[in-house]
Amino acid sequence: MRSPSEDRAGAKQPGPRRSVLVTGGNRGIGLATALRLRESGHKVAVTYRRGAPPDGFFAVRCDIRDNEELTHAVKHVKESQGAPEIIVANAGMLHESAMNATSDADFDDLIETNTKSALRLARLGIGGMLRARWGRLIYISSMAAFSGAPGVTAYAASKAALLGMTRTLAWELGRHGITVNVVVPGLIDTEMTQHLNEDQRDWYLRGTPLARTGTADEVAAAVGFLADESASFITGATVPVSGGLGVGL
Ligand code: NDP
Repeated sequence: MRSPSEDRAGAKQPGPRRSVLVTGGNRGIGLATALRLRESGHKVAVTYRRGAPPDGFFAVRCDIRDNEELTHAVKHVKESQGAPEIIVANAGMLHESAMNATSDADFDDLIETNTKSALRLARLGIGGMLRARWGRLIYISSMAAFSGAPGVTAYAASKAALLGMTRTLAWELGRHGITVNVVVPGLIDTEMTQHLNEDQRDWYLRGTPLARTGTADEVAAAVGFLADESASFITGATVPVSGGLGVGL
């Protein structure tokens, strides 16, 4: 039997051109994801906070901790390319400190950046998906949410919250044709991990069956798959891209 995206000769037909929003799309995993989704033919908008916007994308400057800025960003994207039908809540921060050196302010900052912004983004961006009865909401968590790591209590907590959020939203939005999934990277070579010293890198690599760090493109490939029309029966899923770090958790 032919799938709906195949023509009579069995060749895969391009799917609809969707409006995509990727937060933190100016570098690292966010930029790789934006490029990947653009290659798939979509209209891709990104948010960025510092520095210059990436070339060739509709880009809105936005600090995701600020509800007004985020509201503005989503509105601009809607006006420019239509309401987002694929949202990748990627922007995030890492703050490392031992538990007893983690202040309430540090903790609040992580929760605002990594957790609350992800919920706000769903709230702000879901309208178009509900109307279209089609949507993809993709969160970027971290293997730290499962296995922890020394010095990342607050970061792990902020990322673990995304797992519960994903599973709940999958229930709430499933009957509207919207899938909600979470990608869980292991140690990926981006600016976020440049500061790790050799001992820290060894600690991660000893627990990683593939014994290497991953690339932003490898994470983007998983996001691209979940965003694809063909991933239509996958929701509430946790997709590790970790070289096996945390395998079986
Ligand atoms: P980078 O540090 O390279 O990129 C982080 C991105 O988030 C940047 O675009 C940054 O914008 C943006 N950002 C951070 N804080 C804010 C804010 N308050 N408002 C708006 N944008 C913000 O890291 P990665 O690409 O590695 O990280 C992407 C995601 O992947 C994050 O959620 C991270 O937690 C997660 N992750 C990464 C892992 C890794 O090993 N690299 C492992 C597990 C998860 P700006 O450039 O303006 O600062």
